Amino acid sequence: MHRFIFRCVVCTKEYDGSLIRYRCDCGEVLDGVYNAKPPKDIQQRFDRRLTSWKIPDRSGVWRYRELLPAIPEHAIVSKPEGNTNLYPVGRSAADGYATIGTYAGVDDLFVKHEGENPTGSFKDRGMTVGVSAAKMLGARAVACASTGNTSASLASYAAKGRIPCFIFLPNAHISPSKLMQAVGYGASVLAVDGDFDDCMRIVESVCVKHGVYLLNSINPFRIEGQKTIAIELLHQLSWNPPDWIVLPGGNLGNTSAVGKAVNELYAAGLISTIPRIAVVQAAGANPFFQSFQHGFNKRYRVKADTCATAIRIGNPVSYERAKRVIEETSGVVTEVSDQEILDAKSVVDAAGIGCEPASATTIAGVKKLVAQDIIRSGDRVACILTGHILKDPDTTVRYHEGTLEGIHGRFTNKVIQITQKTVEKTIETLLKLT
Ligand SMILES: *Cc1c(COP(=O)(O)O)cnc(C)c1O
Ligand SMILES: [Zn+2]
Repeated sequence: MHRFIFRCVVCTKEYDGSLIRYRCDCGEVLDGVYNAKPPKDIQQRFDRRLTSWKIPDRSGVWRYRELLPAIPEHAIVSKPEGNTNLYPVGRSAADGYATIGTYAGVDDLFVKHEGENPTGSFKDRGMTVGVSAAKMLGARAVACASTGNTSASLASYAAKGRIPCFIFLPNAHISPSKLMQAVGYGASVLAVDGDFDDCMRIVESVCVKHGVYLLNSINPFRIEGQKTIAIELLHQLSWNPPDWIVLPGGNLGNTSAVGKAVNELYAAGLISTIPRIAVVQAAGANPFFQSFQHGFNKRYRVKADTCATAIRIGNPVSYERAKRVIEETSGVVTEVSDQEILDAKSVVDAAGIGCEPASATTIAGVKKLVAQDIIRSGDRVACILTGHILKDPDTTVRYHEGTLEGIHGRFTNKVIQITQKTVEKTIETLLKLT
């Protein structure tokens, strides 16, 4: 089995990957690196497992285990996850999905719907590896600081793995709809009298002091699991890479993971070119975009504000990892306004696919990059839809009602009030419109 090593992203110091460690002595985050090459018949192995119903083969994460840290099968906690659909939505699609490509201005466009994971976001791909690592390392509990998809995913995997789970969050900003999964899945939810930074500090110190395993996005095992978004995407495309892979950017863990995956697939000989990576941030939470615009000469921090709560992050944890990905793949970083995000979301939703606001940044970003002639309308483009439409019902309803402050919905679909007497007339009018 291959050995897994932690290597500092900045100073390159190495540590044993079988010990619990989250940061380098210099304070920076750690990369996972492998000391062995993947086997020659890797492609055949991946294909063969597609016909198996067994976990781990059946998992869209563990199917690719030659490219993951070695974890003994008895420690693996898998639902299974992954196996998410890749929808052709380009302008040249023969059905209703073409509306998305027409909106974005691309003929050959795909969306990979990570919202179809068991808890409704791509976080499950990282958590199956992270919680399995916790089991392997013999942790007595797992923890994270999060109000969103991370806590939902961790709580669910911890329940399956029979391992206690602590979720820390600031008591001032708790919205029950964001937390309902973590509460429902049975985690201990701890509301702290402080802000998010306080929660991060507390969770790290609790973990170190009590042998609790930390599963925030600094954890290198989570990045390893999230690589399988790109691995599965390329498998679905018969290892024929698109010109671009487009992702939303928050803490930039996903950007790091997808970049690492395409590099490793290239090194393993599974793909012959490396796709360019485009990261899209919300204009109200755009520190990475600002750094990119200034040639990465400095790291920016902002006070984040956007309707796309999953990427409302002012100081991304994986900045250094993601910077390297943009440089290595000739990538780009762009930003889109909340207006652009919600209009793009309504287009994705109306095609019958649907996604959460953060995910729609990808379609809004492609539209912008096409207008700037950075992405060509003839390029082959794959967008990652990171979360499910059911994650943020309030924003969707209010967009269509026209009650979101500062947003003028271009594609609202208002509920039509009718009386029992006007049914016939209304239906006739609507049928004429179609
Ligand atoms: C976590 C998350 C993101 C942001 O991913 P990062 O790895 O933090 O950049 C985007 N969309 C959704 C739905 C998420 O849950
Ligand atoms: Zn270091």
